[in-house]
Amino acid sequence: MATIAIHGGAGTILRSAMTRELEADYRDGLTAALNAGWEILERGGPSLDAVEAAVISLENFPLFNSGRGSVFTTEGKNEMDAAIMDGSRLRAGAVAFVQNVVNPIKLARLVMEQTEHVLLAGTGANQFAAQQGVEMADDAYFFTQHRYDQLLEARDRGVVQLDHTVDEADLITEADERPKGTVGAVACDNAGRLAAATSTGGMTNKKFGRIGDTPIIGSGTYADDVCAVSCTGHGEYFMLGATAYDVSARMKYQNLTLEQAAAGTIARLTEIGGEGGLIAVDGRGNVTLPFNSDGMYRASVTADGEFIIDIYA
Ligand code: ASP
Repeated sequence: MATIAIHGGAGTILRSAMTRELEADYRDGLTAALNAGWEILERGGPSLDAVEAAVISLENFPLFNSGRGSVFTTEGKNEMDAAIMDGSRLRAGAVAFVQNVVNPIKLARLVMEQTEHVLLAGTGANQFAAQQGVEMADDAYFFTQHRYDQLLEARDRGVVQLDHTVDEADLITEADERPKGTVGAVACDNAGRLAAATSTGGMTNKKFGRIGDTPIIGSGTYADDVCAVSCTGHGEYFMLGATAYDVSARMKYQNLTLEQAAAGTIARLTEIGGEGGLIAVDGRGNVTLPFNSDGMYRASVTADGEFIIDIYA
């Protein structure tokens, strides 16, 4: 049964700090992305196209930390990571540390389809983008006042700041780097093929070419013939826990259901000190969206085509 789920990042997302208007905007962004993916699945299209379309929609929406809404590095730049994986062919493509690319997820797909590599980073990835003729934009396109204010505040305080920061309590010290916010999609199509896609700007005030879990296959993004997974949260721990792949491994080797496996994976993440969440789907169209943070922007489609959108725990 075809289905899709998406996320717009996990973190300290408090109802008390959210305005009605802002919450409505977030819900609109999630609805548009879910629609973009669901339309493809509904007419029998492939899950790979559906997750790409959903993530493109989220990348173009400035409230989410990816593509246009990406956070700023300490130098006031936007450096983005993205990955896509086709579970039915066990193929993946990813880019890290790319600049000025309007839709990093499209570039990740081109890595998968046009090269013999899985992950391209930095200037090389940008050269590949130029060669492929993907849409580029100048820095002004990626500039959002909200993100820039976040950077100025974080730089002033000498802290690395959570993406979904709502108040001072969410500011974190560099000794306790906990990046949050990212977008992702997972889908199962009518043929039972699974796909996952994730895209992020990382975290405000990041430095030294830091790359998170998002473009690391098996950490922030994974799909095979068992399940498809996209993660968001403290990237370093998702790398240490091989979190995205862990869901598939639990299903395969422990014979668990998708929901049991993903719950075990989040329990393990908590055990090793990580914070965040994941969205996952299996080949029968089951969906699960577990997280251990205060909230996660998330949405999915039920068996009768109804959209479910949630933000808080
Ligand atoms: N997990 C990603 C990272 O660590 C992004 C995030 O969720 O903010 O870069």
